[in-house]
Amino acid sequence: MIQISALPAFTDNYIWLLQDHSTQRCAVVDPGDAAPVEAWLAARPGWVLSDILITHHHHDHVGGVEILKRATDATVYGPASEHIPARDVALKDNDRISVLGWEFDVFAVPGHTLGHIAFYHHGLLFCGDTLFAAGCGRLFEGTPQQMYTSLTRLAALPEDTLVYCTHEYTLSNLRFAVAVEPGNSDTVERLAKVRQMREAGIMTLPSTLALEKLTNPFLRAGETSIKQKVDERSGTDNSSPSAVFAALRAWKDKF
Ligand code: ZN
Ligand code: FE
Repeated sequence: MIQISALPAFTDNYIWLLQDHSTQRCAVVDPGDAAPVEAWLAARPGWVLSDILITHHHHDHVGGVEILKRATDATVYGPASEHIPARDVALKDNDRISVLGWEFDVFAVPGHTLGHIAFYHHGLLFCGDTLFAAGCGRLFEGTPQQMYTSLTRLAALPEDTLVYCTHEYTLSNLRFAVAVEPGNSDTVERLAKVRQMREAGIMTLPSTLALEKLTNPFLRAGETSIKQKVDERSGTDNSSPSAVFAALRAWKDKF
């Protein structure tokens, strides 16, 4: 049984920490800062960091890798097509790796960055800055079409999949989601719940794919009501879901 906890970093990042209590080995996903990981290890003598998983090259995801690598000799996994510090294993689409005895599938999910990858193990998805709770990453490098294809691929995973993304953006994402779909009662309800959680300082992650499909406008670009809303705003006929997605993403960028 592997336990997953969040180590908060910077203002809104989570470094996901996977712990195998039977072997006292652990792994981290996207350690943008080494300090929270080092502090966790220092408080637990006997525990060993054996693996570091990286989704993409942005500093808030890789900033702690070199320090952790020097201190622990963990194996660093990251996308083959991006510059990842101290990377040991270069990953591409459909690769499979073993971490703490668990098999993880690697999916290429370009959009936020061109080389962005996600890690999937039955029911668990580590998706970096691609799919967020009620939102998705900005398009720094890829096209809307690429991102829409990536999100569609993730959305096809089992509905009960837990979504471990990197940022606590859920509240602001839901404010946008409600602006897009004021009549979606699941979204309105989720906003109220998440507002309470954030006021109480509670983390809103992980999410589930089932909940994302109900409330995340970026996974709902095929819905007629969303198409009508963005057509109205842009004054054009967005004829495909990926065109609706592009208009939604552009709207969110200025929201
Ligand atoms: Zn990023
Ligand atoms: Fe990030």
